[in-house]
Amino acid sequence: MKPEQLETERTLILIKPDAIQRGLSGQILARFEKKGLKIVGLKMMHLKEAILREHYAHVVDRPFYEELAQFMSSSPVFAVCLEGQGAVDLVRRISGTSPDEFGTIRGDYSVSVQKNLVHSSDSPETAAREIERFFESHELFDYRKEEWKHVYAECDA
Ligand code: UDP
Ligand code: MG
Repeated sequence: MKPEQLETERTLILIKPDAIQRGLSGQILARFEKKGLKIVGLKMMHLKEAILREHYAHVVDRPFYEELAQFMSSSPVFAVCLEGQGAVDLVRRISGTSPDEFGTIRGDYSVSVQKNLVHSSDSPETAAREIERFFESHELFDYRKEEWKHVYAECDA
């Protein structure tokens, strides 16, 4: 399968402050890399109130929001844009949703519903908004990932 023949999509992850404090950011990123996903953007950011209110607008009225905002701004995060076939769903499944889902990042390394190491976009529409929220277009890179010819087969297209 030639890399340029693939139909791929992009998604966003945040490697949260707990992962950086616990020295797990490399291992977390490696899980996505090892599955064959392409890193098209990566940066370290210290998230402040405005971007957090926007990013967590769906939970801003929940009782845990203030604690969540404090946690997410307690130290920097890595924002990462990943690309691959069905990347949104794939990345969400590698991340996991609860600390009880063994075999996922959250399941294997976290016990908390808040300090859960990684954020991942939950739909293609959310992914598009979130990528734009965290990256300028010149911070995203189009390049050919040679490995993809060993990752995908023609019948996967
Ligand atoms: N969260 C929290 N307390 C809760 C539930 C969620 O602090 O009781 C945090 C947690 O860090 C989660 C984030 O709020 O990742 C966003 O919540 P959402 O329901 O969107 O979870 P996710 O999509 O990250 O699984
Ligand atoms: Mg969510």
